[in-house]
Amino acid sequence: MSETRIEHIIIPANFEHSGVHRLEADVPWYCIYCGATRGEPHQGLSFDGSRRPAVTMWLNPCGHVESYEAIRSWLKVHRVGRRAEGQWSL
Ligand SMILES: [Zn+2]
Repeated sequence: MSETRIEHIIIPANFEHSGVHRLEADVPWYCIYCGATRGEPHQGLSFDGSRRPAVTMWLNPCGHVESYEAIRSWLKVHRVGRRAEGQWSL
């Protein structure tokens, strides 16, 4: 059995993020719906109409779309991740 792959992610901390609240966490790299390995993470821009904070994005080969809302719920349940405030790096 191979080791669980861990990736560091940065996602918006709130649905209506202000551009300064983000959530960082080290998470096991598999789909929360089916357990398949996620696609390669890359930095993308979360566009809320005014700001374009850099966040971690990925596409799952399994086809499941994991919303940031779903990820936040997962982090809450598993008690991982930390809220970080300050500048988004672009
Ligand atoms: Zn899946």
